[in-house]
Amino acid sequence: MKKEEKDIQQTEKDFLANPQIMKHYSMLQEIGVFKFIDSLNREIRNYQSLLQGGLDIFNRTSIDDIMDATVFHISDHFLPSIIAFLWKPIQNKDDINIRGYKNYKMIDLNLKIDSIAPFEPFFQKYPKPINFDLLSYEMKNEEATKPFSEINPELMIPILGPFGLYGIVAVGRKILEDEYSQVELIFLQRLMSFVSQAIKNHLHYEHSLRDVKTGLFNHGFFITRLNEEIARAKRSGYTSSIIVIDVDKFKNFNDAYGHLAGDRVLEGLALTIKQGVRVEDVPSRFGGEEFTILLPNTDRDTAWMVAERLRTAVAVMKVPWDPPLPQVTISLGLYTFDEQSGVDGEDVIHRADEALYLSKERGRNRSTVWGSGLLFKIQHAKEKAAAGSGETVR
Ligand code: GH3
Ligand code: MG
Ligand code: MG
Repeated sequence: MKKEEKDIQQTEKDFLANPQIMKHYSMLQEIGVFKFIDSLNREIRNYQSLLQGGLDIFNRTSIDDIMDATVFHISDHFLPSIIAFLWKPIQNKDDINIRGYKNYKMIDLNLKIDSIAPFEPFFQKYPKPINFDLLSYEMKNEEATKPFSEINPELMIPILGPFGLYGIVAVGRKILEDEYSQVELIFLQRLMSFVSQAIKNHLHYEHSLRDVKTGLFNHGFFITRLNEEIARAKRSGYTSSIIVIDVDKFKNFNDAYGHLAGDRVLEGLALTIKQGVRVEDVPSRFGGEEFTILLPNTDRDTAWMVAERLRTAVAVMKVPWDPPLPQVTISLGLYTFDEQSGVDGEDVIHRADEALYLSKERGRNRSTVWGSGLLFKIQHAKEKAAAGSGETVR
């Protein structure tokens, strides 16, 4: 037991041991002094639990962990039939993530919700946890609230920030008893306000690592991760690779079809890149129409395979635009490093850039791996300058 708790208990003991109390015991009992003390004690315990829970939730370093911690702290008090988390990354206008829990376990909720946008005006006006029935009554938008009513929530908690409504948490009714008591509801609302803040902070943090236009990681984050990976290679004999990508003749494309169409192509390209790599890879927008991918723990052959897969995927990529746009192509440069390479971040990027340069020189829409003899190949390529095809040089 903590010292403060002991102090409180001692104070209570001293109080009860006071002869004056004994003398007036029945009167004090009658007017409810002891009950009142009990209720104050309960409230103190609730606040302690709330603070501990809040602190724990705030200290979590991923949204997954925040959700797990939330479920853990709630179920310390009672068992809601369901807890559903809905959230979307700030840089992403459409995709909504949904995660549900039942009896502490993650479950597939099968919630048919594509957008939380219809809830935004209401929560902007009333930015607090609210009873679901009251929310449905106030919103008068059955289309939006109906999918939620299927999981029968008691409480709906908004996740709000400067960029709008980022998410909603729905907490179900109690499994074992009928209704939450007033005290339980207040506890739940307070705890969930912490949860909402913690998720918001995390979404902001993730947003700060991203490029706004494409949703890929930004230049700064890429450099940080690259340096970490180089240090790891030196420490533990890891082999990692980077790929740099540059859109071919993109200036001409913009000139012919406009910057907006060009932007749409960059977004499509980013999506193709994101879908073509693993979760542990770091696909980034390096700047303008240049992209980089860090592939931790990836050797030269695998990086080559990834590069070629991306190149061929881009060559058939469809970008919705009216009238239809011509196909764009990309050129790629690869560099693989390990503990022997003795390189820093700048060297790594420079070498991948040299390989990219060769891809451009040799006619674009191709991949090149940096390696010994590259300068000779550049020279050679300049002389021969074969055009167009997807042929590759290694
Ligand atoms: P190369 O095949 O040699 O790479 O030719 P390029 O025209 O792509 O090369 P250059 O680097 O000269 O031009 C890059 C162009 O990319 C210039 C700019 O118009 C375009 N660009 C850069 N950033 C953006 C962007 O955010 N949106 C759009 N639409 N275009 C961009
Ligand atoms: Mg460029
Ligand atoms: Mg270019």
